[in-house]
Amino acid sequence: MAKYIFVTGGVVSSLGKGIISSSIGKLLQARGFKITIQKFDPYINIDPGTLNPYEHGECYVTVDGMETDLDLGHYERFTEIQTTRANSMTTGRIYKSVIDKERRGDYLGKTIQVVPHITDEIKSNIKYLGETGDYDFIITEIGGTIGDIESAPFLEAIRQLKWELGHDAVSIHLTYVPYLKAADELKTKPTQHSVKEMLSYGIQPDILILRTEKHLDDHMRMKVAGFCNVDLECVIQSEDMPSIYEVPVNMQRQGLDAAILRKMGIPVGETPALGPWRKFIELRNTATDIVRIGLVGKYDLQDAYKSINESLSHAATHNHHKVKITFINSEFLDESNIASQLAGQDGLVICPGFGQRGIEGKILAVRYARENNVPCFGICLGMQMMVIEFARNVLGYTDANSREMDEKTPHNVIDIMEDQKNISNMGGTMRLGAYGCTLRKDSRVASIYGNENIRERHRHRYEFNNKYIDEYESHGMQCVGRNPESDLVEIVEIPELRWFVGTQFHPEYQSTVLHPHPLFMSFVKEAINKK
Ligand code: GLN
Repeated sequence: MAKYIFVTGGVVSSLGKGIISSSIGKLLQARGFKITIQKFDPYINIDPGTLNPYEHGECYVTVDGMETDLDLGHYERFTEIQTTRANSMTTGRIYKSVIDKERRGDYLGKTIQVVPHITDEIKSNIKYLGETGDYDFIITEIGGTIGDIESAPFLEAIRQLKWELGHDAVSIHLTYVPYLKAADELKTKPTQHSVKEMLSYGIQPDILILRTEKHLDDHMRMKVAGFCNVDLECVIQSEDMPSIYEVPVNMQRQGLDAAILRKMGIPVGETPALGPWRKFIELRNTATDIVRIGLVGKYDLQDAYKSINESLSHAATHNHHKVKITFINSEFLDESNIASQLAGQDGLVICPGFGQRGIEGKILAVRYARENNVPCFGICLGMQMMVIEFARNVLGYTDANSREMDEKTPHNVIDIMEDQKNISNMGGTMRLGAYGCTLRKDSRVASIYGNENIRERHRHRYEFNNKYIDEYESHGMQCVGRNPESDLVEIVEIPELRWFVGTQFHPEYQSTVLHPHPLFMSFVKEAINKK
């Protein structure tokens, strides 16, 4: 039977629950256990697919096409598990399912209430993956902060599950210990209050993880243990680290995984070495040379392109370099400043995105990369910008555009497909999730992948217009990746250039810490060569 670990957060948001959950997964895997990690978010949206990145950061996409919270990206990158729609749940989906059942008549005669109907639905979703028999541990991260009104049904569900499962469930609560400069003191009071709040929901946390900028001495830990009814060995501190990759090692050093196992009555055994992971950290810490990558996008927010940033960073480490990523806001690029804005970058990534804002700047950046032979990687909308730039400046269609930006463009080199034309619901209706792609024999991408049949994850509505394929190819832009069923163009490349590749899919969703995506590896390598 699967065992359950619940991760909640208190005091403030942004404490890094996702990294802690991923680290727990990583440490248990290293002990030979099969794990999965799921995220339950208390907001009403069915999924974050319709949210602006400014609200919620990047939208991560699973293989089976669920648009999810970016924490699922951390889970996959740290642990190499593959998540699916079952790993991501929101209040909206819980309610929708209950309301659909009510309409079907499943509860005929009953009043439908938060308790027990919503809480039962949450519980059955929490247990869904555990009941497949595929996992030893199910780690459930609850989004939001304890005390939020919308978290209450989730906490009630956890309370019930802890009661029902006994030793097979452990609750981990992550809080913040602020440092008051004027008093030169770390303060544990907010933690005590947060645990009190948990207790008011009937949940005694088994393990506390204290986020802190400064080291907590044993005296402080003892104080927290005493006030919060937690064993001293279960008061763990998560100090600020040079990088998120040090977190699993730091958690292991303090015995977090051992504490979880002891709480569950599982023999602890020897501490695993985490060899490859430590080697990655060492590589990262010893790299000195810098490769400069310009990220041309429109969302000036560090979480908006999370997976791309991570993919570049891992690929740089594995290429023995540090990466310096500079965000370049495409809205402010024009003919007069493009050269000065992009000078000094060893490579350019043209970012994904939606809508008109900032696209002309992206097109200018593509032109600069093409004319100056700067390694350039276009991802999704970025690939579409490569296609439009080529049409305007090489094929001579000065009015070429995507249907998304200009419905009436006579040269719709990026177009909408029949099956997307009459979509009335915006949520979950794009081309989403993993699709196959056949690579052209002897193309550069085929040698980069070392394979001619690949699968990559998508998230877009518009596509390359196949009517123009011959014109593109005869002028030097090759359509080197095609969907085997629909024949849609998935990868374009200008082989004469040093490295100029656009992908309609998002390779960043499949890149992990220990196995960076081959396209990112190859792109970063070429950027290094260019220096
Ligand atoms: N807006 C474009 C489309 O829908 C690209 C989407 C993206 O970059 N993810 O096709």
